[in-house]
Amino acid sequence: MSLIQTNLELIRTRMAAAARRTGRAPEEVRLVAVSKKQPVERINEAFACGQRLFGENYLQEAAEKIARLDQGIDWHFIGHLQSNKAGTAATLFGMIQTVDRLKIARALDRSLSDSGAGILPVLIQVNIGREPQKAGVAPEDCAALLKDIRDLPNIRARGLMVMPPFSADPEQTRPYFRQTRELAFALRAKGLLAVDGGLELSMGMSADYEAAIEEGATLIRVGSALFGERKS
Ligand SMILES: *Cc1c(COP(=O)(O)O)cnc(C)c1O
Repeated sequence: MSLIQTNLELIRTRMAAAARRTGRAPEEVRLVAVSKKQPVERINEAFACGQRLFGENYLQEAAEKIARLDQGIDWHFIGHLQSNKAGTAATLFGMIQTVDRLKIARALDRSLSDSGAGILPVLIQVNIGREPQKAGVAPEDCAALLKDIRDLPNIRARGLMVMPPFSADPEQTRPYFRQTRELAFALRAKGLLAVDGGLELSMGMSADYEAAIEEGATLIRVGSALFGERKS
């Protein structure tokens, strides 16, 4: 068995166990295989093991890979997006997880309106730990951003994405996951998020995805625990 296959089976087992611990069905949680800086051979290997959802951070790198890989992969964008690249991103990805300002949301909406490609699901990236160096809208500014996004017909805000302050101890990160869930539920109750069902919470990475699932994650983003360390 290859290393990727071994890793993938271990992650799937742990995901299912974490879901069951809190009374959730394992199918409620999807694994985003974070393939940034990984060669297409490794993506193909994970694909051969049944993985269909991948996350990329860099637009140029993603475009080259997507062109070389088979159809049948669902790509999510999880990197920093510039508004002048929004049109390209909207054509490449099934979901953009990193909308954190109105300018990006408007640029996506405009390009989709031009291309007639249909409605694009997006997540709002929240700077849940209020770290100055990190992207994401401040928790208290989410509602205002979502009110503006509600008026854009070609994108749909499905949920929140967070990258809390890093800690090797998932118990340190858990309170941020819980705050994210509470924020998302409050926004949904106000009719600002996932109004047509299917709230998404993208949280948890290699070091803490089990805690994230216990706190309500529906999408976990795992890179190094699946593919091994990235070359950078
Ligand atoms: C790189 C990255 C990940 C995956 O991180 P690992 O610790 O390797 O699992 C998840 N989310 C985002 C936004 C990333 O940039």
